[in-house]
Amino acid sequence: MSDWAIAAAAERSVYVHIPFCHRQCPYCDFAVVDMSTDTSPVDRYVAAVEAEIGMAAPWGELHAVNLGGGTPSILAASQVERVVAALRRRFGLAAGAEVSIEANPEDVTLEYAEALVAAGVNRISLGVQSFDGAVLRYLGRAHTPDQAAAAVRNARAAGMRTVNLDLILGSPGESLDSWLNTVRTALLLGTEHLSAYALTVERGTSLSRSVTAGAAAPDPDDQADKYEALEEAAELEHYEVSNWAAPGHQCRYNLTTWSQGEYEAIGLGAHGHRNGARTRNYRRLDVYLDHVEAGRRPVQGSEAAGPWERERERVFLGLRVRAGVEAGSAGCALLDSAPGRRFLAAGVIELAGSTLVVTRPLLTDAVAREVLTLPEPT
Ligand code: SF4
Repeated sequence: MSDWAIAAAAERSVYVHIPFCHRQCPYCDFAVVDMSTDTSPVDRYVAAVEAEIGMAAPWGELHAVNLGGGTPSILAASQVERVVAALRRRFGLAAGAEVSIEANPEDVTLEYAEALVAAGVNRISLGVQSFDGAVLRYLGRAHTPDQAAAAVRNARAAGMRTVNLDLILGSPGESLDSWLNTVRTALLLGTEHLSAYALTVERGTSLSRSVTAGAAAPDPDDQADKYEALEEAAELEHYEVSNWAAPGHQCRYNLTTWSQGEYEAIGLGAHGHRNGARTRNYRRLDVYLDHVEAGRRPVQGSEAAGPWERERERVFLGLRVRAGVEAGSAGCALLDSAPGRRFLAAGVIELAGSTLVVTRPLLTDAVAREVLTLPEPT
């Protein structure tokens, strides 16, 4: 395995899903509990999360914790503290462990950020998306560019070790200048980590219905131009297809998942990977709560992949990391296949020693899709 993968695969992580959002964003197809239409008690959910953590199999000290969603910053800081404390009790946290939370900018006051740090959180991932007010309105976000900048400053002043900004590129109506201004503003604010994803139209979303009714759709060529502009402008290391970081600020939790490492899943609909098996929790809130409150783990299913599936998955995931992935048998099978030979001839992939690298990150998904269809060598 590559050095990064050896280190990350050995780490123990936990993902905690917080499904609540103030309201569903028009482009989002995540299974969220929309608080504008469902006033489900958040505190009852937090108690269930604490109970579920208590039921998890013992493991050893954690290297990374990720509170994702949904909108975890819907939780009061005292509720976040309860979740982190339950993880400490059950597993312990290794020295220097990454404890990360996703947050909406409008939630991150200085007081809130300080309380998160006091609870043990040291990394915050802010759903900034853009520093252009018109783009934010198009995306249905509740915050303004000024609120996003204030959230970054508050997180930094509170002592967060790493501040990540999530950005969305290529919304219809976003000019290249607007996008570059978003990137430059993020860098001027001193962020140590950027994640950037192209806007996609997911089936069943309100954005999809608008596009079907004739609204402009995102343009893949425009998105490719903006991705390349980001690559040029970002003063951070481009370490994964959609992620840039200053030295020492790569996301440990994500590196674990890309290296096929193991992580415990806690919360509604959460997916985990323990003891070689992929697990998934129930996705319906009432079913999830019924299970946990009856003292049962809310796991709906668990599948252990065979050796070839695991090998394909290892390369599929590892190709996302710019340092590349040990080719192994799935990488060699790709290089022997007709699509693999075409990618190699076009310079889209290359073999550096025994490491397989995608040289054109925008084509990573196309390469990875081929890996998943490779038949087992005979
Ligand atoms: S805040 Fe995030 S998770 Fe919630 S609806 Fe919007 S995009 Fe989806």
